[in-house]
Amino acid sequence: MSEPEKIIIIGSGPAAWTSAIYAARASLQPLVFEGAVSEENRLASTLPLGQLALTTEVENYPGFPAGDLTAYLDGAIAGQRREYMAPHRKEGVSGPELMELVRQQAINFGTRIITEDIVDVDFSAHPFKLTASDGVTYESQAVIVATGARANYLGLPSEEKYKNRGVSACAVCDGALPRFRNKPLAVFGGGDSAVEEADYLTKSAEKVYLVHRRAELRASKFMVQRAADNPKIEIVWNRTLAEVLGNDRDGVTGVRLQSTVGEPEWQLAVAGVFLAIGHTPNTAFLKDKLALTEKKYLRWTTPGRTATSVEGVFAAGDVADDYYRQAVTAAGSGCMAALDAERWLAAR
Ligand code: NAP
Repeated sequence: MSEPEKIIIIGSGPAAWTSAIYAARASLQPLVFEGAVSEENRLASTLPLGQLALTTEVENYPGFPAGDLTAYLDGAIAGQRREYMAPHRKEGVSGPELMELVRQQAINFGTRIITEDIVDVDFSAHPFKLTASDGVTYESQAVIVATGARANYLGLPSEEKYKNRGVSACAVCDGALPRFRNKPLAVFGGGDSAVEEADYLTKSAEKVYLVHRRAELRASKFMVQRAADNPKIEIVWNRTLAEVLGNDRDGVTGVRLQSTVGEPEWQLAVAGVFLAIGHTPNTAFLKDKLALTEKKYLRWTTPGRTATSVEGVFAAGDVADDYYRQAVTAAGSGCMAALDAERWLAAR
């Protein structure tokens, strides 16, 4: 086996790329595992570039007020990647654009990238060993885990049955499909994601029911107002999804809704069901290798630092954050993890 890497970064969202930028500029020659482009990752919404790649405009990332970024994107992003990107919508930076920009920035400082998942780790001895999805094992002095989180499903058999035939957890990925056009749709959840998904879907749907299990949205005031201002959104309070209805020919045709306040069940005719009920951190491959929280997020073991339960392994972004979960906080903790790793390596 060749010399161990100085630092391996696992992930490809804002935390991973920001830590790569800082590590590269500190001459640590980072190697990033950005994730595999596989059907399994597509179904789990864990393709490279993370959750931001599944969103539309990013209106709250500092430095990108609304405007036309076409010329900048053409100049900043390598030609081949740029060719495959959706046309710029001239409303400020989009999630996929932001991720391509920050990935390119990491490459510009010498980051190397492997488009595979890390499927197993051995942190019991140093240097650490990491096994990729193509079966190759890599050694590294330090590791930053920035694998983010993925959208949750309810786990109903009917939901599973109609996945890809009308059930989705990503409006931006699937909302423009012909099966949803000019049809009534239902979004489940009461957070910012649910409102964002419902709002997005109204661009092509006939109407969108936003179904929430309580009588008050969890979403921010701004997003609550956005839902209220959209005449195509109808909020259904105090209801949960009991069953996705459908048939083999048409896929989803409706939903059976249970009341959370003792009212009778209802059925709604909809052609699509979009889940926006929170996230699960991508830590399955770390089970028993690093300390996790009750909700399976990575545990930062030193207050205000990105250290994990294994010295030399650091965590950044949503994989270690079930509270803020913003692109900018993920980027910030990516910077912290790279600085923590750099100092740890220097001290050894
Ligand atoms: P979230 O804030 O955790 O909201 C999840 C929603 O799903 C809650 O309303 C919750 O209901 C509901 N829920 C959870 N489990 C459920 C179940 N089993 N059945 C029915 N409903 C269920 O998650 P999020 O909306 O994905 O947002 C995550 C973070 O990203 C937040 O910090 C958010 O601010 C941020 N974000 C921001 C934007 C933006 O600013 N544009 C867009 C997207 C996300 P309860 O309310 O009853 O718990």
